[in-house]
Amino acid sequence: MLDLTSISVVDNHCHPVLRDQQMDALRFRSYFTEATDESFPERHISNTVYYLWLLRQAATFYGCKNTEEDILAVRNSMSADALLEHLLRASNIDTLVIDAAYPSASECYAPERMGELGHCRVAKMLRLETLMQQLIITYDDFDEMLEHFSQEVSHAREHGYCALKSIVAYRTGLNISEWSRDEAVASFNEARQSAMATGELRIAHKPLLDYLLHIAFRHASEQEIPVQFHTGYGDSDTDMRLGNPLHLRAILERHDYQAMPVVLLHESYPYSQLGAYLAAIYPHVYFDLSYAIPFVEKLEMLAFTRQALSIAPASKLMYSSDGIFIPEMHWAAAIRGRSIIGQVLTEMIEADEIDEEQAYDLAQQILQSTAYSVYRL
Ligand SMILES: [Zn+2]
Repeated sequence: MLDLTSISVVDNHCHPVLRDQQMDALRFRSYFTEATDESFPERHISNTVYYLWLLRQAATFYGCKNTEEDILAVRNSMSADALLEHLLRASNIDTLVIDAAYPSASECYAPERMGELGHCRVAKMLRLETLMQQLIITYDDFDEMLEHFSQEVSHAREHGYCALKSIVAYRTGLNISEWSRDEAVASFNEARQSAMATGELRIAHKPLLDYLLHIAFRHASEQEIPVQFHTGYGDSDTDMRLGNPLHLRAILERHDYQAMPVVLLHESYPYSQLGAYLAAIYPHVYFDLSYAIPFVEKLEMLAFTRQALSIAPASKLMYSSDGIFIPEMHWAAAIRGRSIIGQVLTEMIEADEIDEEQAYDLAQQILQSTAYSVYRL
């Protein structure tokens, strides 16, 4: 089988891990589901194939018995720094492209510190909805809020970001529409009212959100900075019907947005063929292959990797983990991603589609060089 272990990966979408890594089984398990109901960590996660696989890998890595208890005892005996250092270095990571807007910075390692511990580079992205929420809470005047939003987004590159990110799929859906200024103002007033009543804001006000996104896309196109879109599988509050990347058509067709690279995150699972298709058709669309989250096991990962490589050029595909909370995620994905991509490319060699040298070159693009050019690393 094609051995890709020597290729250091660019993890083109991941999150920081928590500073507190001491945990019991329930808490550890809770990081392996997007479901919020307690019955999942209590009764179901330990009966899930990907979790059983992860425990087996972890037991080998920590050199202990393959039980949750033993694995947690070993990891709890280590400092969080040592845990991160161990796992990230074993992952052979070139660059982590980090969305630091979640989880909250107060609980997490700073991206820079993760880079130090992992001996890798870090790059950061700007999460648009988080910025919107902050500004809507701060400014009671629509135009003032808008001006600050434009300011921040139009200087994203100068402020050190290599990408923007949108979670609109979680909130109001990927069917981003055009709204008049009056409609956006009315929506802003509603958002302000709920923010003032509760002291916090979870922006899900469609006219306002869509309106601000169009402003962000204009600035992104000017800077030629990529926008990552959450697509497909996600939090339990996602309407999965509106997470289908085909809803982005109006945005992808816009002539004035062609200089804005669009990255469809999480292989748009379970819309993987559709997302890969968009990357095969639109010059500015790229497709992310994520190997820790969505939570699926090997056979399904082989399937979406085959679909992606069957439909889209490798110069449109990029590896990621979507790792979050615990460093086992970033680590497991790096191991999994290389091995799955290696296995799929080996099948393609055996099917007499490509030779070994070509296969290695395609793997190199997915694991590293596509991201280098998209994010200008
Ligand atoms: Zn993410």
